[in-house]
Amino acid sequence: MPPPGSLPRRVAIIGGGISGMAAAHRLREIDPAAEITLLEASDRLGGVLQTDRSRAGWLIERSADMFTTREPWAMNLCRRIGIADELVETDQRFRRAYVVRRGRLVPVPDGFTLMSPARLWPIVTTPLLSLRGKLRLAWEYFVAAKKDGADESLESFVVRRFGRQAFDRLVQPLIGGIYTADPAKLSVQATLPQFVEMERKYGSLIRGMRLQQASGRRKPPNRVDPTEISSGARYGLFLAPQSGMQRLVEALAARLPPEVVRLNARVESVRPAGLTEPGSGWIVQIQGESFEPRFDDLILAAPGPVSSRLLTSVDPQLAELIGRVEYAGCSVAMLGIRRDQLAKPLAGFGFVVPAIERRQIIAGSLASMKFPGRAPEGKLLLRIFIGGALQPELATLPDEDIRRIVLAELRELVGLSGEPEFFEVARWPSMMPQYHVGHLDLVRQIEERAATLPNFALCGNAYRGVGIPFCIHSGEAAAESLRGQPNKLV
Ligand SMILES: Cc1cc2nc3c(=O)[nH]c(=O)nc-3n(C[C@H](O)[C@H](O)[C@H](O)COP(=O)(O)OP(=O)(O)OC[C@H]3O[C@@H](n4cnc5c(N)ncnc54)[C@H](O)[C@@H]3O)c2cc1C
Repeated sequence: MPPPGSLPRRVAIIGGGISGMAAAHRLREIDPAAEITLLEASDRLGGVLQTDRSRAGWLIERSADMFTTREPWAMNLCRRIGIADELVETDQRFRRAYVVRRGRLVPVPDGFTLMSPARLWPIVTTPLLSLRGKLRLAWEYFVAAKKDGADESLESFVVRRFGRQAFDRLVQPLIGGIYTADPAKLSVQATLPQFVEMERKYGSLIRGMRLQQASGRRKPPNRVDPTEISSGARYGLFLAPQSGMQRLVEALAARLPPEVVRLNARVESVRPAGLTEPGSGWIVQIQGESFEPRFDDLILAAPGPVSSRLLTSVDPQLAELIGRVEYAGCSVAMLGIRRDQLAKPLAGFGFVVPAIERRQIIAGSLASMKFPGRAPEGKLLLRIFIGGALQPELATLPDEDIRRIVLAELRELVGLSGEPEFFEVARWPSMMPQYHVGHLDLVRQIEERAATLPNFALCGNAYRGVGIPFCIHSGEAAAESLRGQPNKLV
């Protein structure tokens, strides 16, 4: 909060995705007098988050369809903006995922979450791994922990601990489905630090899981995590607003005074207001406008490549560091079908496809089985992911080619017959940051360098987390850092 009697601070936030909106909202909370301007290049708020409610009976997410409560920040924000009671959980009956093995869908072993088995019997009985693969996985208990503290790729971590087969057939598709990434480049410390910590603390992930479960059993029954019995991911921690992710955007927008948001305002450049006088504010140039407004504070909440470009003339070194964060693209095919069009009905949330299967899709989500109200009675909403870091060329194919590929894959994998009621493609070119090995070091350098710019803060999905809770946290932390406040939300 600025000293009493001082003039309200003028703050520009560039980028109206969830990160920029969270920054604007947090700033209003901690400095209600601030004159905030949220500059968004497109004609809508929300950035990547887009819910299509235009088809009667269908609710179609074009990108994110949920957030996790493993980190508190998204849930915390939902409470503060009054939509906590609109959040729905995933359907308990279908909390499992499948993985493709030799063209067939096989359930991910119960209790196997991303890379670590919470229960051994389902691993013993799964047809996904050979006897040799299972023995190697169980051997993880005895594999010595890596002690040097250096980052490594996700592939190297998993192959080292669980063996090549568990990586190729289980972990690569589960992680690849989330990050649309190349696990040979992905940093394990930046993407799954909980498993690195488990290795450090317990020496083994299996040992760590067992000890954690044992301490869970000693807690009162309502404290035991029910999601341990799900497979593939911790589905009990996933939530979404009943009316779709766009609701989060709408509720946040409703909390901001109308004069805060400026749509169709693409920022072309930023520069310090006084070159000789550090801290005298920022001049922002907006495309097509001759008047260049001045602000006291600046928050850059745009995607990494945009922030890098905007900073080139301000601080070339910072711009270069941010530019090192690579992005990959993917496309999401969304199709509506009747349930009876599937010859092999699925009782799960979806399936993931290992790269070794050499198919042309990354993953398929049975979106309407995850959350209620996504498809009319008797129908199914499917979302099929295509492209990613391993097959970038597929994401850029024309719609008709994507349609041909997706329908052919679904005919083979789940026995789809006939034509879908609708088929659409959402394209996300270069929209998924790839946290490669060394990412955390890079982010530390970015943060150190950014801290030298007065009245300036960075946020967004390029730095400390791609998921919605992390984006919210980064936006809120950016707002707080401008007001010199420690983050009290954690
Ligand atoms: C297909 C897909 C599925 C996903 N699924 C999930 C999921 O299920 N759960 C989850 O937690 N996360 C998911 N994510 C990740 C998550 O949705 C994103 O990381 C997050 O929404 C990014 O928010 P952001 O505000 O940082 O960036 P963005 O949403 O990219 O927002 C940046 C904004 O900046 C604007 N902008 C760009 N340039 C300028 C400029 N020059 N001037 C002004 N404005 C500018 C853009 O128009 C945009 O609105 C998914 C992402 C994708 C692509």
